Amino acid sequence: MSSVRVRFAPSPTGELHIGGARTALFNYLFARAKKGTFILRIDDTDLERSRAEYTEALLDAMRWLGLEWDEGPYYQSRRLERYEDEAARLLKEGKAYRCFCTPEELTAGREQAHKDGKNYLYPGTCRDLTPEKIEEYCESGRDFVVRLRIPDEGSTVVRDLIRGEVRFNHRDLDDFIIMKSNGLPTYNFASVVDDAEMKITDVIRAEEHLSNTPRQQLCLEALGYEQPRYAHVPMILAPDRSKLSKRHGATSVEEFRSRGYLPEALINYMALLGWSPGEKEILPLSEMIPLFSLERVNKTAAIYDTTKLTWMNGQYLRAVPPERLAAEALPFYTAAGLVEPPLGGEEEEYYEKVVKAVSDRVKTLAEMADASTYFYREVDSYDEKGVRKHFRKEGSAALLRRAASLLHTLEPFDLDSVESGYRNLSKELGISAGRLIHPTRLAISGRTMGPGLFDIIVLLGREKTVSRLEKAALWIERQ
Ligand code: GLU
Repeated sequence: MSSVRVRFAPSPTGELHIGGARTALFNYLFARAKKGTFILRIDDTDLERSRAEYTEALLDAMRWLGLEWDEGPYYQSRRLERYEDEAARLLKEGKAYRCFCTPEELTAGREQAHKDGKNYLYPGTCRDLTPEKIEEYCESGRDFVVRLRIPDEGSTVVRDLIRGEVRFNHRDLDDFIIMKSNGLPTYNFASVVDDAEMKITDVIRAEEHLSNTPRQQLCLEALGYEQPRYAHVPMILAPDRSKLSKRHGATSVEEFRSRGYLPEALINYMALLGWSPGEKEILPLSEMIPLFSLERVNKTAAIYDTTKLTWMNGQYLRAVPPERLAAEALPFYTAAGLVEPPLGGEEEEYYEKVVKAVSDRVKTLAEMADASTYFYREVDSYDEKGVRKHFRKEGSAALLRRAASLLHTLEPFDLDSVESGYRNLSKELGISAGRLIHPTRLAISGRTMGPGLFDIIVLLGREKTVSRLEKAALWIERQ
C-alpha cells in the first residue's frame, strides 16, 4: 500500500445521490489506482438532519455499487471530544475566540448588509474582548460560538488538482464559526480535524465545496497540520443545464436500483460524468482502475443523461451470466406478482428460460418482468396497432385456427419442428411466413414485439399456445 489516503465523507441526511456516488467512485478509483487507502467517514454532526436509517441506506448503496472501503466507517458524532479539544487548543493559543453576539445582533447585521447590497461578513465584534469581559459573559451563562481568527490582509490560494490555482482574498472571508453554541463543530472544522487525524493526502469532492477550501486551509494552518491536496470534481447538471433535481427523474442510487439498473452499469455511467478515459465507453470497474487519473477529469460540468445510462444498462444486462441475471431479476418478477419465491424444480427451470428469452430486448430488470407477463398470465388484451395491422386483415381468424390445428398435433413439440411446421404451412397456404408469424405473436403474447416467436411457442407449450390461438380467432370473429 502507498501512503495515499482518500475519504468519502457523506452526510447521512438523505439518500445517496448520483453526485455523491460519483464522488465516492472517484475517490475509490483514485485510491485503487494509487494502491492507497479508501476511507469512509460519516459526517453526522448535524444531529437534527442526520438519521441512522440514511446511514444504513448509504452503506447499503455503497456495498451494492461494489465500492468497498478499506477503513471506517468513522462517525463524526462519536468523535465530538476531539473537536472540543482542538477548539480549546486554538482558543488557548489565541487563534480562535469566543463570540457572544446574540442571534438578533447577527441577524440585524445581515439584514443591514443585505439592504446595502453587500455580502455579509462578521464584523469581528468579539475579536478582542478583554479576558475580564469574557469571564463575565461566561459566568453569566451567555451562549457563545467559537470563531477562527482570519488574517485581515493577504490571501489563501487553493491549488486544485483539477481547477488549478484559485485565490481567495482574506478580506472576503470573515472569522467563521468553528464550534456552534450547542458545542458541536461546524462542517469545516470537523472536516479538517478528521482529515488531519486520518492522514488524508487527497481531498476529492464536489465543486460546491471549493469555497469552503480556503477556510479549511486556514483551519489546518491554525491547527498546525499539513495541507492535503485538493481536487474539486465538476458539477452534474440536467440536460437543460439546470441543477439536477427530482423533476429530472431518478437521481438516487436507491431509485436506480429499484428501477432495475445493474450496479456495474451505474458505476460505468457515473465514471463518465466528468472523467474522459478515452474512446471506450463500456468500461467495467476493473478496467477503469489502471486508467484513472485526475488529469483526465474535466473542469466543466457534466451533463446527466438517463437515456445513455439506460442504453448502457442494456449492454450490461446482456453480458451478465444467466444464473446471475435470473437472481437479479427475481425481485422484479416477484414484485410484479409473476412468481413467488422460493422457486423450485420445473417452476425454476421455466423462470430461467423466460428470463433468458426476454433479456435480449430489454434495458432494465424492471422492463424484463414487464416483458414477461404473458409467460405467466393469460393474454387479456391485444396491442391496438397490432390488431389493426395483423388481426383486421381478411382471413386472420382462419389463419390462427390453421396454426392452432398444426400445433395441436405437431410431434415433437420443439423449436425445429415448430419452425418447420410454420414454414411448411405458410408455403402450403401461399403466404409469407410473416403473415402467419405476426398474428400468432399477437395472439399468444398480446404484443407485437418480443423474443423469437418459436421460442415463445415452445416455452408456453402446446396447450397454452393452442388455446390462445383459438381464443384470438374467436375474438377477431366477434369484432
Ligand atoms: N459531508 C460533506 C458533504 O457531504 C463532505 C464534503 C467533503 O468531502 O469535505 O458534502
